[in-house]
Amino acid sequence: TQKLHIIGGGMAGSEAAWQAANLGIEVVIHEMRPTVETFAHRTGNFAEMVCSNSLRSDDDEQNAVGLLHWEMRQAGGIIMATADKHKIPAGGALAVDRDPFAQSVTDALMAHPNISVEYGEITELPKDGHWIIATGPLTSQGLGEAIQAETGADALAFFDAIAPIVYSESINMDVAWLQSRYDKGNSEEERKAYVNCPMTKDQYEAFIDAILSAEQAEFHEGETAGYFDGCLPIEVMAERGRETLRFGPMKPVGLTNAHDPENKPYAVVQLRRDNALGTLMNIVGFQTKMKYGAQAEVLKMIPGLEEASFARLGGIHRNTFINSPTLLDDQMRLKSQPHIRFAGQITGVEGYVESAAMGLLAGRFAAAEILGKPVSALPQDTAMGALVHHITGGAEAKTFQPMNVNFGLFQPVEGLKNGRRGRKDRYKAYTDRAKAAWTDWLAPQE
Ligand code: FAD
Repeated sequence: TQKLHIIGGGMAGSEAAWQAANLGIEVVIHEMRPTVETFAHRTGNFAEMVCSNSLRSDDDEQNAVGLLHWEMRQAGGIIMATADKHKIPAGGALAVDRDPFAQSVTDALMAHPNISVEYGEITELPKDGHWIIATGPLTSQGLGEAIQAETGADALAFFDAIAPIVYSESINMDVAWLQSRYDKGNSEEERKAYVNCPMTKDQYEAFIDAILSAEQAEFHEGETAGYFDGCLPIEVMAERGRETLRFGPMKPVGLTNAHDPENKPYAVVQLRRDNALGTLMNIVGFQTKMKYGAQAEVLKMIPGLEEASFARLGGIHRNTFINSPTLLDDQMRLKSQPHIRFAGQITGVEGYVESAAMGLLAGRFAAAEILGKPVSALPQDTAMGALVHHITGGAEAKTFQPMNVNFGLFQPVEGLKNGRRGRKDRYKAYTDRAKAAWTDWLAPQE
């Protein structure tokens, strides 16, 4: 029989192994811990949570990550089942008792008749067989280099530098306007590719003060980042001089305020489309280490973003991830070496839940392939589908950065009110639609 080999027994690898093994596939998990350690893991257990012990919101009607929980439970996911078993009180969030959680996942995988484990670091890309690489944000250096040799240096990053992402609908277009710098572009769409938020001198000075006094997140031990020029955090730029941002990402040149053409803005914040749907916009050049609470407050000082809601805030982390939009097909296979799939954080999703979710899919896709069973296309209306579609095609490849699941990745539901007021109804409509689609997709596989 054909075995499935999984490199990495983290959130994604554990879930992938469980799914494939339950579909009758013989699985070998290759895990380097505890022989080779990372700076964040403490044990040799599978599915160790390296930082927070929360799987975030469990609300499957109003929250995209809660919906992902629901979809994983429907698919018999081991991460969710074990989390439910070791749940601890945390309001609407699903927090778990981390050590018993990881121990239970480990015990269940070890006890599974179709699963075996080989300890040791893998440092080369496998030449044949069926493989899933799920080595996570702290992929060992040797394997990272082997992946880079296959994909090209630009297609694998060792750090993320995430600029905040805003839901387009929450931008106040009575203040902001659409225009590309110097009206560049060959089509009307390209000449209006950016959202521009103008600042007066007073607003700019207050903004710089706020950035300089905002609390910053610490790097984790061992995570020390080498900043590259071109992706400096905005607070580092502001520290270098009060005018640095105004001559950098906030320069006002080549732009005319459509609402007030006579008055030249003193500085301009630009946002650019982050997905093909146009529902998400990233703030150009605004990667930051400001703490989330402080960050949201500072960003809401930007005219036009006073009411902004954020699909994700900015951050800079040690994080190994590939440029999935160019490298992977819609079944998460490496296009150049289709016997290798990728899953988990290394595919450019962000978070425990998202990582496990991508493991769940990769495990099922690989099992179906080995069994010679067709898999119907994953509906984009599900949380799983929206996320995998984003990383393998929907996201802008050039500016690709890791992504959390969020409703901005979903195709809009027709006929519902936009904006703040209709939000509750819209989210309910998204989750209802997703649940029906996920149930239909799962049915023939069970
Ligand atoms: P992992 O869970 O890291 O699993 C990868 C596994 O592969 C590990 O067991 C590793 O030992 C193994 N491995 C690596 N290289 C090799 C190799 N060459 N050969 C064999 N085995 C190998 N997400 C959140 O939702 N909440 C948080 O609070 C959070 N905090 C984080 C803090 C840090 C410091 C980091 C780095 C990430 C954090 N994340 C957090 C992001 C991410 O969701 C988690 O890292 C998550 O565990 C990713 O799942 P994964 O399966 O992709 O990788």
